[in-house]
Amino acid sequence: MTSATNPFEIAQRQLDEAVGLLGLSPAMHAFLRVPMRELRFTVPVQMDDGSFEVFQAFRVQYNDARGPAKGGIRFHPQETVDTVRALAAWMTWKTSVVDIPLGGSKGGVICDPHSLSHGELERLSRGYMRKVAYFIGPDKDVPAPDVYTTPQIMAWMMDEYEVIMGRHLPGVITGKPAPLFGSLGRGDATARGGIYTIREAARVLGLDLQDAPTAIQGYGNAGQFAHKLGHEWLGLRVVAISDSKGGIYNPNGLDYEKAIAWKQKTGKVADFPGAKNITNAELLELPVTILVPAALEGMITAENAGRVQAKIVAELANGPTTPEADQILFQNGSYVIPDFLCNAGGVTVSYFEQVQNAYNFYWTLDEVYERLDAKMTTAFHAVHEMAQSRKVHNRLAAYLVAVQRVAEAVATRGWVR
Ligand code: GLU
Repeated sequence: MTSATNPFEIAQRQLDEAVGLLGLSPAMHAFLRVPMRELRFTVPVQMDDGSFEVFQAFRVQYNDARGPAKGGIRFHPQETVDTVRALAAWMTWKTSVVDIPLGGSKGGVICDPHSLSHGELERLSRGYMRKVAYFIGPDKDVPAPDVYTTPQIMAWMMDEYEVIMGRHLPGVITGKPAPLFGSLGRGDATARGGIYTIREAARVLGLDLQDAPTAIQGYGNAGQFAHKLGHEWLGLRVVAISDSKGGIYNPNGLDYEKAIAWKQKTGKVADFPGAKNITNAELLELPVTILVPAALEGMITAENAGRVQAKIVAELANGPTTPEADQILFQNGSYVIPDFLCNAGGVTVSYFEQVQNAYNFYWTLDEVYERLDAKMTTAFHAVHEMAQSRKVHNRLAAYLVAVQRVAEAVATRGWVR
């Protein structure tokens, strides 16, 4: 990882630019540039064959001035502490831009969850929780799902925490299964929130979305639901999708139900009957109206940004675009809905889940959707108006909105001025 691709260095450079425009003090800048706390630890797990494996794990609490830290846990073979730091920083700006009373954090385990059995995955999840139980809590730091972690993993972690604490505390973690104190609507919330922002972007750009060609990179939770909701709700024609093994393209459109069935049957989207196989790199450069990066960090770079043709880039992934690429997309007139705005639907419904857990009183799906729409739409327009008035690209505008709020909380608490 070079300093051009290190996600934490990228997150710091993005912040530096915003701090300059906001005119914050050097002390405030120094404080916002690094995590407030971080924990690095090991999780030993007994494997099914009786042997032991020791996994490296992290939990980074970036900033909790605006409320308990909040952010998911990733299980990924390429996890690094700097990736977790960057993601924790982005969570801080994310909860701030949608104006929910939470801070930002992130966790990770270096592992390949696909090579673990169900039992091994459960022991790893419970082991992770045993190590962080006293570092987190409903009023300190609240984890959630992220790349390769699921509602089932959240359920195991919640259960382990309640055993350790000796009482019922479902608000320690969000993204739980609905029958076990999860919120209705959390499953597709990240994509749904992104769809609301695409709708608003089309409104301000005067763009007709009916049948608009769309490419989606990444076919996990966010990518799959973006395909479904984008088609059903906005009328998009999804012409390309991909996962870590490659992508597929059919200019006439890809049927959601059939694509899901194919992925479930074969474990990949490639070789889908009636579509052409393409690479992940090719997908980004297709002649589409909407491009949805919904995979991992660092996908749109100085090297390929000039070939992106989409009018709207809706970033459901965290950190898919490097700062150099941002400039190129801006100059070329692509309208970027930046990650920590576009994908904030997940954490927003996580916040709703916490509220419901605290009251032990549960909302209907319509109540969740309505409140999510209001949060996303308000945040979208705050960022759009900032970009227009300061004549900056949308990511920088989102930073200006979010960092200002966090800095205000930090200063008002008297930590740093
Ligand atoms: N992992 C998701 C994200 O990056 C959700 C976090 C949460 O719900 O706390 O936004």
